Amino acid sequence: MERVHTHIDDNFEEYLTAIGGIIRQRSISATGEGIRECAALLAEMMASAGIKTEIRETDGNPVVYGELFSERQDAKTVLFYGHYDVQPPEPLELWDSEPFEPSIRNGRLYARGIADNKGQLMAHILAIRAFRESGAEIPCNAKFVFEGEEESGSTNLAAFVERNRELLDCDIALAVDGPMLSGDVLNVCLGCRGVVNFEIELETAQFDCHSGRGGDIIPNAGWELLRLLRTMKDEQGNILIEGFMDGVRSPTEKDMEVIDGLPFDRENLKSLYGVPSFDLDKRQYYTKLNLMPTLTINGITCGYQGKGSKTINPAKSSVKMDARLVVDQDPLDIAEKIKKHVALHAPGARVTVHGFMHPSKTDGDLPVCRTVVAALEKVYVDNVALSLGLGGSLPSYVWTDILGVPALGIPYANQDSGGHAPNENFRVDLLQKAVHASAQILFDMK
Ligand SMILES: [Zn+2]
Repeated sequence: MERVHTHIDDNFEEYLTAIGGIIRQRSISATGEGIRECAALLAEMMASAGIKTEIRETDGNPVVYGELFSERQDAKTVLFYGHYDVQPPEPLELWDSEPFEPSIRNGRLYARGIADNKGQLMAHILAIRAFRESGAEIPCNAKFVFEGEEESGSTNLAAFVERNRELLDCDIALAVDGPMLSGDVLNVCLGCRGVVNFEIELETAQFDCHSGRGGDIIPNAGWELLRLLRTMKDEQGNILIEGFMDGVRSPTEKDMEVIDGLPFDRENLKSLYGVPSFDLDKRQYYTKLNLMPTLTINGITCGYQGKGSKTINPAKSSVKMDARLVVDQDPLDIAEKIKKHVALHAPGARVTVHGFMHPSKTDGDLPVCRTVVAALEKVYVDNVALSLGLGGSLPSYVWTDILGVPALGIPYANQDSGGHAPNENFRVDLLQKAVHASAQILFDMK
């Protein structure tokens, strides 16, 4: 193993060049630009690292699938999940260098997709290369699922996994994506929340009217929407939709143990979110972040929003919302409950579900989870923390619920990597560490 680690350090310049190659190939999820070319390039890189690779079609963007088998009879199998699609680079004027031209400044590699998720998935491929090039044996089996639709909601991933259960069979799935916690703490996630995205549209008249003639006479779509929204949450923030909280389990002692082991820096959170005060304590914060559902207004549209004033009484309003869901909440069931609530309080309003994802949870005490965490501890030393989740949503349920295997979320990128934003970056030291981490996992998974 020492030989592999030394090889990674000695050849890291060259590995950075390989990462640059995949960065230069655009693969914009929203528009489809370069997606197929990127899948082909990735497949080629994997094949030349000695991974048996194929491009597998889905109803949307293809999955790049790879596998590698050990000669050992009882070898364990680890599945690495990542995605090669990226967010659009706009607004371009806010970038300090070309988004698709890797640029290293102040110890960081700047490029669209470097953190989310190309740099992270390349860590596994480069780890495989390091084993090969240093003549070391990889003691476990490895499978790779790199999808091309993560930034568009992983629309076809569940169907792909359903169709390929046998092919994807493994002992553990590792979703390597996302940023670390502050202080370079690697946050191994035992689960993630699900989500349902929806929109409510309201119409109170056929057209807007003069506020002097129709105000308080003709129903106002803005006030109607606010009234409806007020029925969904009380002053304390409790969600009032009937049955919404039914599946929510109260935190267990084990959950609290995990939370107590996590770092918590109130000042950092204050500046991260640009808020004047942050009142939650550590347990409250992580309980809300990982164990409780949310109901969030994403945006409200109604009436005139232009320059100056326009005294109208609007006829239409709409709100986009999302609900993050915890384990045992089914997004489709929650969507039905939301529709029922809206039908009761604002008959005639239309609810459209735009997307959803199931939640997922894994038991960190499983031996295979302990093995992965122990491998990561060798590389990140004292900077590994187990957490119950990311807060956000990843399609980890495809592993836990469809394949029936444990799944861990592992974020290799720096906390301030700026995924989705201009000047997305990956600290070069952490990128190098990521390759060591994937190599150590492969070595310890025997
Ligand atoms: Zn992303």
